[in-house]
Amino acid sequence: MASVILVTGGTGLVGKALQHIIETEPVGSKFGKQPNETWIFLSSSDGDMRDQEQTVKLYEKYKPTHVIHLAALGSFGGLFRNMKYKLTFLRDNILINDNVLHASYTHKTTKLISCLSTCVFPDKVEYPLDENKIHLGPPHESNFGYAHAKRMVDVQNHAYKEEFGCNFTSAIPTNIFGPYDNYDLEDAHVIPALVHKCYLAKKNGTPFIVSGTGKPLRQFIFSYDLAKLFVWMLREYDEVDPLILSVGEDEEVSIKEVADAIVKAVGFEGHYSFDTTRADGQFRKPASNKKLLDRIGGFQFTPFEEALNLSVKWFVENYGVARTGMKKA
Ligand code: GDP
Repeated sequence: MASVILVTGGTGLVGKALQHIIETEPVGSKFGKQPNETWIFLSSSDGDMRDQEQTVKLYEKYKPTHVIHLAALGSFGGLFRNMKYKLTFLRDNILINDNVLHASYTHKTTKLISCLSTCVFPDKVEYPLDENKIHLGPPHESNFGYAHAKRMVDVQNHAYKEEFGCNFTSAIPTNIFGPYDNYDLEDAHVIPALVHKCYLAKKNGTPFIVSGTGKPLRQFIFSYDLAKLFVWMLREYDEVDPLILSVGEDEEVSIKEVADAIVKAVGFEGHYSFDTTRADGQFRKPASNKKLLDRIGGFQFTPFEEALNLSVKWFVENYGVARTGMKKA
């Protein structure tokens, strides 16, 4: 049977990675496109999914059998952006998610995977994070708006399953990086923000300044690896409960290690320091990928430095088109 796979937020970091994997893996292979599949990558210019009517129109137009729901407000922003727009991120994401989930139900979409984030987890929780701990306490105050909206997707997935038998689920990636990221100096996540800052420091002969102490730890997942995991989930994972998509807990990297690797990849040789007056955010939030490995039965993650080098190379070569939030000379 022919399938139409609709990817909302299809032109962002993860959407572009999905497109790359679908176009480059051999047709019919484990992570490649199947011959009977049509993939549609939506961008915000196709319609505003905060609006129910516009969302329904997109479902009527494409009649998706499967949906990978990546569209969100705030997902491309890091700590500093999330702290600024709590109500906007809460409300807009509630609207988007409710519209997408309900349209998937009314249009008989056979499978829906929504993308959450590890910021949904409680701030005070026993580590490592796992799929059973989402609702055990309030999220970190720095992003409670976004986090609560995303938590509700899991609640809705269960309710749609119980009342209507829908095959809706969610994925929880750890910190994602890769080509086509958001490189805004102030509003981006740590890797793209630092790649951009280091690139400018090298270009302008200015110091490279990293926010915070450099001590916090994060688990980073390369967007191309994540895309493969989404393709696998689409075909093989039929549980309602979320699945954490991450490298292992033993692969946490400190912000200082990230900055060091970026300095090396960019080839920056100037002065480099930490601005400890800026927020560190959560110190660490290790997540377990045990359930993922149990269900998929093994996966080859790209080594961090290799993925980082590839991402830096992409940024340098595509500086003119990258989302930097800046006017370019
Ligand atoms: P988080 O996992 O949601 O906190 O995601 P981020 O990608 O925003 O990572 C934040 C961590 O990186 C914090 O410890 C920040 O202090 C640190 N960091 C260092 N420099 C930067 C920067 O330029 N931008 C961001 N977003 N974080 C930075």
